[in-house]
Amino acid sequence: MNTELSLLRREGLASADDLRGRLPGEEDRKRGPYAVIECFEKIPCNPCVVSCRFNAILPFEDINDLPYVDFSACTGCAVCARVCPGLAIFIVDESMEGEMGTIMLPYEYLPLPEKDRQVLARGRDGKVLFPARVVRVMKGGKGKTALVTLEVPKEYLQEVRSFSIPEEQVSAPGVCTAADLPEESPIVCRCEGVDLEEIRDLIARGYKTVDEIKHRSRAGMGPCQGRSCRQVILSELARDAGVSLEEFEAGSFRPPTTPVSIDVLAKGSEEDAENS
Ligand code: SF4
Ligand code: SF4
Repeated sequence: MNTELSLLRREGLASADDLRGRLPGEEDRKRGPYAVIECFEKIPCNPCVVSCRFNAILPFEDINDLPYVDFSACTGCAVCARVCPGLAIFIVDESMEGEMGTIMLPYEYLPLPEKDRQVLARGRDGKVLFPARVVRVMKGGKGKTALVTLEVPKEYLQEVRSFSIPEEQVSAPGVCTAADLPEESPIVCRCEGVDLEEIRDLIARGYKTVDEIKHRSRAGMGPCQGRSCRQVILSELARDAGVSLEEFEAGSFRPPTTPVSIDVLAKGSEEDAENS
């Protein structure tokens, strides 16, 4: 008996077997953004196919066929994701340098999150994985679904499949606190693999600033440069100090506040030299 297929049938959770043929190979991943279609039911539905002007969704000889992406033709334009009624299409981009990539997720709730807001990235089973930053929001309307792009470590791009906005009552607007993290896997810093227990242990041992915790644990020193974990660490420090997050002295937050590639910095210094 195929138990993984049963899982899909029983709980709607795709297994590695179900995803076979739905993810691109190494070369196509580097080329640019691409669509991942997680549509497993043979139903009479084809908006994805007819909307794709690159004919990148195959085979569709019959309207009940399951859609498969031809990654050599897909440009990651996201048109299909905007019209899929099943919210089954995700646009992944892991072509950029560094350890972070992006995933564009269909989102049907209001209000939409704002750009730069922290949300909680969730897996296929709906469980919270980690805080993630919104980097782009495409509004919906006129038969099109809104798409929200999150910045995610590349190793998790095939795991994040939804997100939620943290409850306002447990967080200052736009940030995540430890209360938003999952109890079973409270990872605070995904980049460096630092969990909540380690952060709390350091605070209990007398490390009382973000910088001290950063230097001891490396939390915040990864490619996202602390944009995901900093607020959680701050909220833990504020809790320890017995003050609100707003009252807590946050300390320094040195630029760059977003990752900057070395060629941008190099270009800047060349321009400085020319102007001097
Ligand atoms: S992302 Fe664009 S090119 Fe790729 S399958 Fe969807 S509509 Fe076609
Ligand atoms: S539009 Fe969405 S639900 Fe319909 S066949 Fe395409 S992927 Fe499946």
